[in-house]
Amino acid sequence: MTARSLHGKTALVTGSTSGIGLGIALSLARQGANIVLNGFGDAEGPKAEVAAHGVEVLYHGADMRQPAEIDDLMTQAAATFGRVDILVNNAGIQHVANVEDFPVDKWDAVIAINLTSAFHTTRLAMPAMKAANWGRIINIASAHGLVASAQKSAYVASKHGIVGFTKAVALETATTGVTSNAICPGWVLTPLVQKQVDARAAAKGQTNDQAKNELLGEKQPSLQFTTPEELGELAVFLCSPAANNVRGVAWQVDGGWTAQ
Ligand code: NAD
Repeated sequence: MTARSLHGKTALVTGSTSGIGLGIALSLARQGANIVLNGFGDAEGPKAEVAAHGVEVLYHGADMRQPAEIDDLMTQAAATFGRVDILVNNAGIQHVANVEDFPVDKWDAVIAINLTSAFHTTRLAMPAMKAANWGRIINIASAHGLVASAQKSAYVASKHGIVGFTKAVALETATTGVTSNAICPGWVLTPLVQKQVDARAAAKGQTNDQAKNELLGEKQPSLQFTTPEELGELAVFLCSPAANNVRGVAWQVDGGWTAQ
């Protein structure tokens, strides 16, 4: 990859105030893309980190459960930068419970954020991508887009759903310069997973390290966490000319989780 290969492009990354989304935003910024950040919590720190790569940054705090706010996010992004060239649908939440105990509002929130928000951003970004005959849609699915785990019915349904959505959009755009692909990480040590580590440690009287090692040992044969930086570099590859004909894939970065 040559330096600043994405200079002149604009990337919008949902849920990019922490974790994987921020890692991907930083990798794309390192390649010169202007960045639209989104997500909850502190935005000033992430904005400064991204801007340090010498690119323009816009932050929009849209709640990805709310179609009207997503509409405003896309409108503001286009008004600021002309259009969104690279759309990374990353915002996501988890809730862990048996299906009969699963709170209805949690189910609705998981599906809205992890799946439906990607429909809204994609439908709103697509006309300008098609007009430019160039675009990259990168959906952050999960190993749970390919296989299931107990107590994660909403998450697994949302992630299988987004893998299917990715493929449908890839077929609709197959003869254009727009591509649609999914990345399927295994465990990545972000705030989302740290919550699950904390719950496990509390339930089992384990230390943080014991809980982390057990989590990895159950699912991820490499026994190593995937990092946001590794996922960011895969996103950069998917934006490169070498990936022009990579369409509709669900690309595991899961330490062998789904190879079993
Ligand atoms: P994280 O909790 O660190 O980050 C989630 C981001 O989404 C944050 O910026 C948060 O503010 C934002 N967000 C949450 N609810 C939102 C809402 N309603 N509107 C707008 N933004 C919202 O989590 P993460 O681990 O970085 O997860 C990012 C994505 O990667 C998710 O889709 C997740 O399912 C997926 N993923 C994570 C792992 C992992 O092991 N961490 C593995 C596979 C897939």
